[in-house]
Amino acid sequence: MCEDGGGSKPAFFLDRDDTLVPDAGYMSRPEQLSLLGGVREALLAAKAAGWRLYLLTNQSGIGRGYYTMADAVVCNGRLEELLGLRFDGICIAPEKPGEPSRYRKPSPAFVLERIAADGLDPERCVVVGDKTSDIECGLAAGVAAALVARGSTRALRPDAAAFAASHGVEAFPSAAAAVAAFVGKRDDLRGAVRPD
Ligand SMILES: [Mg+2]
Repeated sequence: MCEDGGGSKPAFFLDRDDTLVPDAGYMSRPEQLSLLGGVREALLAAKAAGWRLYLLTNQSGIGRGYYTMADAVVCNGRLEELLGLRFDGICIAPEKPGEPSRYRKPSPAFVLERIAADGLDPERCVVVGDKTSDIECGLAAGVAAALVARGSTRALRPDAAAFAASHGVEAFPSAAAAVAAFVGKRDDLRGAVRPD
């Protein structure tokens, strides 16, 4: 497994807003954050099972001037406090849509960099999020992806649900359900979720 330079560690790359926490819209203060159901338990179980956990979040509110990078860092610190864990890495993409950006999803740059630097197994990496850009990020990185809603598959974003279905990406009612499902899988995740 390591002969080609690939590592062996599994990892989740988690979107923040409307994946781990309800999105109140351009959140800039830590008291605005609360966890979606089951997320804390699912991530703690994943970490205990040896999964690396990364946060990958587009925060265009910074680029729009609504709040600062420092505000976003404080909010992410509050998120870690609520979860009771530390992420293995956090990437905040501050640019507005359309601006040049290395990391703004759907860019796969952060995922690819962490795979190379942290000894991750790309066959066991999963990008989890609620938007088409989250799924595109996973596909562009050549890893698995999971589309999530806030508690019910009926709440999936229609555009993202159509995109995911057309690319063989599985949809889940919540991030908690997606994480639990992937932690439970034993085989090549890409084979498991992209049968074509
Ligand atoms: Mg989101």
